[in-house]
Amino acid sequence: MAQDRAERIDALRRKGRVQVLVIGGGINGISTFRELALNGVDVVLVERGDFMSGASSAPSRMIHGGLRYMENGEFALVRESLRERNLLLANAPHLVSPLPTLIPVVDRFSGLVGAVRRFLGGKETAGARGALIIKLGLCLYDLYAGRASGVPRHSFFGGRETRRRWPALRSDIVGSALYYDARISHPERLGVELILNSEQGSPKALALNHLGLVGLEPGGAVLEDSLTGERFTLDAEIIVNATGAWIDLTNQELAGKAPRLIGGTKGSHLVIANRKLYEAIGETMIYFANREGRVCILFRHLGQVLAGSTDISVETPDGVRCEPDEAAYILASIAEVFPDIPIAPDELIYRFSGVRPLPRSDHSLTASISRDHSCEWLDPAASAAQPVLNLVGGKWTTFRAFGAAAADMVLTKLGLPRRMATEHSAIGGGRDYPASERRQAWIEGLAEATGRARETAERLLARYGTRAVEYAHTLAGGGDEALLSLPAYGRGEIAWIIEEEHPETLADLVLRRLTIAFTGELSHAAVLELSKVMAAARNWDERRRAAECAALFAELNTNHGVSEAMLRRRDTDQGNSDVRFEEGPHEPAVPQRQMS
Ligand SMILES: Cc1cc2nc3c(=O)[nH]c(=O)nc-3n(C[C@H](O)[C@H](O)[C@H](O)COP(=O)(O)OP(=O)(O)OC[C@H]3O[C@@H](n4cnc5c(N)ncnc54)[C@H](O)[C@@H]3O)c2cc1C
Repeated sequence: MAQDRAERIDALRRKGRVQVLVIGGGINGISTFRELALNGVDVVLVERGDFMSGASSAPSRMIHGGLRYMENGEFALVRESLRERNLLLANAPHLVSPLPTLIPVVDRFSGLVGAVRRFLGGKETAGARGALIIKLGLCLYDLYAGRASGVPRHSFFGGRETRRRWPALRSDIVGSALYYDARISHPERLGVELILNSEQGSPKALALNHLGLVGLEPGGAVLEDSLTGERFTLDAEIIVNATGAWIDLTNQELAGKAPRLIGGTKGSHLVIANRKLYEAIGETMIYFANREGRVCILFRHLGQVLAGSTDISVETPDGVRCEPDEAAYILASIAEVFPDIPIAPDELIYRFSGVRPLPRSDHSLTASISRDHSCEWLDPAASAAQPVLNLVGGKWTTFRAFGAAAADMVLTKLGLPRRMATEHSAIGGGRDYPASERRQAWIEGLAEATGRARETAERLLARYGTRAVEYAHTLAGGGDEALLSLPAYGRGEIAWIIEEEHPETLADLVLRRLTIAFTGELSHAAVLELSKVMAAARNWDERRRAAECAALFAELNTNHGVSEAMLRRRDTDQGNSDVRFEEGPHEPAVPQRQMS
């Protein structure tokens, strides 16, 4: 049984001092925590909200080399990203899978001059990319991905073949390029699995959500439990500031005056339930430049269509959400490629937004700001009593390399050797993931152990990878009881998530441990039913349960465009499982390299 949160906080309070304190539980803070934990460092991670609730829950879900970054001359970043993509395909095959990507081509030669100028440091906008520039980029991309990437090389289609395969695309398209990248089905889960692996791998490592840094005193960092309001201090030899777009604000807490490192840009996405669009896209991601030259993405994800994103400079990362003008911008961009598919307002079933923690730049074009990462010690003159390492920039895809680089700097400072590397470490349910030929037998074994249908077992493998076996063990041979409002989930399954994965609020469970809000499966009845399962597991009284429901309804309405009225309508629609166009597990379109 996992240790209770109050006990974990109490243990930390009594301990009083650690070697390293990582502040920020997004993917980069978690990655650094993992590297340090697995190398035997006494490390604690604190996150003031839920794990993976900042930018790390808001990406386009692409695990990619970043074809676009080659225009800016960032070849080293592309090479590193492709290497990390390939590693993730192997280490987390339950969550990361190949994604065929289509670039519609509107003419053959445009983009060449602009690309060369940008490469030489010019600041002009990208504009349309012609066939020649795309071909050049994709040849390099394949080269960097290497033969062992496990995904096919790119190919080109002429205009007729493109129209045959994607008849709804706008009619003046002269051809298309198809290449392969990867996507992550549930980024928040991967972050949590990294935490679980780290804590299992090191008895000294501890990660706590809803615990934020609020200041620094002579006795150490002042931490505040946002669920109880209690404060205590924790001393650390080294502090890692991994607070993404909040880095500068955190440094102010730590050192008063500190140089500005971050210039965040906000990006928003829409989840669209439109059958025509879903069918028009097919199995490929459509990766296109809109009229302004901004690259947009459109692909099937978890049975819906995911579309994005915007790129807007923001002064503060707090309280960002997808505003109506951003939704209109994304819809207008879609209409540029699929002009004959109308999208109704009630087909926008979810929206989300986050702030990219980009390095501070005076570049007027947000898309041209580097997505590379760096680790910087805070100037000792400005710094507090202990050294502070800042994690600046980065992409989701490169979290492992970024965390490893940060950990190396910390290990050097502590005078400790690196004992292990993580390149080939399986993540969570990616461990012992069944190879194609063993997959059916594996699924049947799980169906037997859970007492549920074969299709359900297949879905469990897609959701949790091989960790589904851990869940099966909690059932002690008996079957699981399906939730009334969400028959695709078992009551025991939800109880297992609550027990093992540290959701502390109903929103943690619904928005980040599960995908039901994103997919449109969430209904009013489901909120109530899940709140009761959580209340039983966490000993909440009726008042707390009601408050948790109210907080979730407010967050859904404010940040995700999901009103209570929408949720109530889904209660009376014919069953929530009809909401998605594709039932069952998220299947890769290309066979994956399997773990043995
Ligand atoms: C719209 C958008 C699309 C993107 N698409 C992609 C993509 O497709 N592929 C890709 O590779 N990358 C993508 N990215 C980039 C990627 O998501 C980010 O680079 C990455 O998630 C940043 O992670 P992080 O851990 O540095 O920051 P965050 O995830 O923001 O984590 C920082 C954390 O620090 C916490 N925090 C702040 N202050 C405190 C405090 N005082 N105490 C404790 N905790 C604190 C915050 O609550 C937050 O959880 C995208 C980003 C955005 C916004």
